Amino acid sequence: MIIWGSTHLRSEIDKGEFFCPSCKGPAPFAKKRVRKFFTLYFIPVIPLSIAGEYVECERCKSKYEPDVLSYNPNKMIPPKGVEINSLGQAFRILELPDKTTVNAAKQAYRQLIKEYHPDKVASLGRELREVAERRTLELNLALDYIQEHCS
Ligand SMILES: [Zn+2]
Repeated sequence: MIIWGSTHLRSEIDKGEFFCPSCKGPAPFAKKRVRKFFTLYFIPVIPLSIAGEYVECERCKSKYEPDVLSYNPNKMIPPKGVEINSLGQAFRILELPDKTTVNAAKQAYRQLIKEYHPDKVASLGRELREVAERRTLELNLALDYIQEHCS
């Protein structure tokens, strides 16, 4: 006899710190993906589809939509030393000419951000990691600025 069925598997796809609306402060989170699997003898064999993703606060165990990760009441305060006051400056940070579209900026951003990804710079010395962190910050602020001021 063959026993078919389906089950849900949870896998952790990301971890970090976020602003938990329930803890009202920074808390560690785990981002999880729920997949439905076909089971044969109760062993998951075929991933059917990604059923969904959610973010769980590891402190209070509240569950949220993944969007919660972009919620940060402190985000609007730019860190010291990094300040963007003009579109030209924002585009230059993204290594683009002054007059470019938001889409081009997004593309450039995606290319550049990859180079400074924490995984990529993890093996480098502390100083280079700090440069990468700062550059990442600049890129984020530049893209934010462009999206806000250019339409
Ligand atoms: Zn929480």
